[in-house]
Amino acid sequence: MIFELPQLPYSKNDLEPVIGSGTIEFHYGKHHQAYVTNLNNLIKGTEFEKMTLEEIVLKSEGAIFNNAAQVWNHTFYFYSLKPNGGGTPKGALAKAIESSFGSFDKFREEFSNAAATLFGSGWAWLVKDNQGKLLIIKESNAGNPLTKDLTPILTFDVWEHAYYLDYQNKRADYISALWGIIDWDVVSARY
Ligand code: MN
Repeated sequence: MIFELPQLPYSKNDLEPVIGSGTIEFHYGKHHQAYVTNLNNLIKGTEFEKMTLEEIVLKSEGAIFNNAAQVWNHTFYFYSLKPNGGGTPKGALAKAIESSFGSFDKFREEFSNAAATLFGSGWAWLVKDNQGKLLIIKESNAGNPLTKDLTPILTFDVWEHAYYLDYQNKRADYISALWGIIDWDVVSARY
């Protein structure tokens, strides 16, 4: 199938001041778009041409995996955000976070720490295993929890392209600000 860059549920300056319109123009308009374009070019004439994005993420490796997983990860990330988001999780996810991490504040601290200490480029993830247990994991580069039979709940992109225009080298400031635009309705529904 031919993949397309998904429309964002907000416009490019709606997430300011946490994420500036310039970052959306580059991160979504150039980087995310490039992963989509590369993926379409790479799968042409291969066994992957007839698969869904999730199937490609699970079955490919190398350049096809990198581009497919980056398409998936970026869509998941951008759809986790909304203007004037923030606050705390809802319903079953709120209860699971309390029982797994003690409190939402402790979870936020542990997740922020994972995102801040991930060396190089990658993603911090909140995931659910097949027993329903929540875990915080770090993935380098295009790493995606689906390949480990884990269900993604929340991710922070900590590639420099996600924050350099707004925060330069201050990754911790980006992470701290990102909590203010999380769409907990969307994220909680994934649990
Ligand atoms: Mn990114």
